[in-house]
Amino acid sequence: MSAYRHLFGPVPSRRFGRSLGIDLTPNCTCSFDCVFCQVGRTAELTRKRKEYVPTDEVLAELRDWMENDGKADVVTLAGSGEPTLHTRFGEVLEAIAGSGRYPAVLLSNGTTFDLPEVREDARKADIVKVSLSAWDDASLRRINRPAEGVRFGAVLDGYRAFRRGFGGQFWAEVFVVPGVNDGRDAMARIAELAGSVGFDRVQLNTAVRPAAEKTVAPLPVDLLNELAELFHPRAEVVMQFVPGSEAPAADSVKLLAMLRRRPCTAEQVAVLFGLEPDSCRAVLDSLVRRGTVATRTVGCDLYYSAFSE
Ligand code: SF4
Repeated sequence: MSAYRHLFGPVPSRRFGRSLGIDLTPNCTCSFDCVFCQVGRTAELTRKRKEYVPTDEVLAELRDWMENDGKADVVTLAGSGEPTLHTRFGEVLEAIAGSGRYPAVLLSNGTTFDLPEVREDARKADIVKVSLSAWDDASLRRINRPAEGVRFGAVLDGYRAFRRGFGGQFWAEVFVVPGVNDGRDAMARIAELAGSVGFDRVQLNTAVRPAAEKTVAPLPVDLLNELAELFHPRAEVVMQFVPGSEAPAADSVKLLAMLRRRPCTAEQVAVLFGLEPDSCRAVLDSLVRRGTVATRTVGCDLYYSAFSE
């Protein structure tokens, strides 16, 4: 199989190293439309669960990748939408974990965790990371702009029920949004709720990549470190990606597939594809001139992202 429809990367992950991604809900289908989203605005805002892409195709691509490449630190259900909206995501987690070669990671916004069948399937992952950036329905609407029917209290109860029956790593990510949850009072409320769930880790994140709303700017590390102290145990401030020792070969199909889902700097692409940063920048700039790739500046960094097919 030369190009995959449902697999992308491995991509640099600031949390997991090199992560092969599996996208089960393409075309920005999500139950949130977060102001900080790095894949842009949600195209289909929904809580509806269904088989968004054929599971058999996904499993065949995964088998092919394991046999022919297979170099990654983890395999992650993530991508351009919410993976638990896919009704058969548990089977994909089973296939990853069953290989015995990679930790299976589920990145979820948590909006379906009120459903027992979702919690049962999510338990097949080794690491589950969910979103906890709000502290009530009003803040949820400002930060995550949820689909009709998502209630903050139900999500939190779902987290507590999941924690009780899950022996793997359960992490929360708090995305810090300027002017909404970057004050001590708001963050103290989130910290209290996180404590009531019993996460193994809480990570504070900031907009180091281009966000859906340009007003969501990166926050100073000093402020994040101060807010991290409000959690017990202390939250982690998510650090930059540390590349693994082996880099995959350059492949423009892979490159564009990755940039479609995750904006990257030229330096990040260079590490992953085994290129010199200067030649990598030249390749990316030629794609910009051809109109295949766009750029956006965040802080001091220039990010490249590809348009959807
Ligand atoms: S950040 Fe995640 S949960 Fe939020 S809109 Fe983007 S894909 Fe959905």
